[in-house]
Amino acid sequence: MTRFDFSDYFLRHTRARTFHGETCCRMASFFAQHGRGYISGRPLEKGHRHMHHRNRRHYGGLDTASNTFYEHKGYHRLIHSNDTAEIRKLVVELSVTEEELRQIDQLRFEAHMRPLPPETVRLSAS
Ligand SMILES: [Zn+2]
Repeated sequence: MTRFDFSDYFLRHTRARTFHGETCCRMASFFAQHGRGYISGRPLEKGHRHMHHRNRRHYGGLDTASNTFYEHKGYHRLIHSNDTAEIRKLVVELSVTEEELRQIDQLRFEAHMRPLPPETVRLSAS
């Protein structure tokens, strides 16, 4: 199992070595997930993790632990992308399962996105 490296996270998100407010909420999300993707369960390594806002900031969503989670950047793209070619490529490359696609579709609904293209299910890993 890959050990997660927190160091870059701390360095990027700390001010004067203190944790408070927004930073604290972001950390709460991160630790609650044990450093793994919310949907995929994959270890979220440096440079591959994105934060998702369930209720988008555009619609007034806050940067709180209950409104955010971390996910592998490819899975995060699957929530937001409308590019069918990109979606197909990611589903195959990441071996996304049918169950994961269901979760992604729910998150797309919450994010006011169209459902994944129907053919995506045929490309899923199981
Ligand atoms: Zn997002």
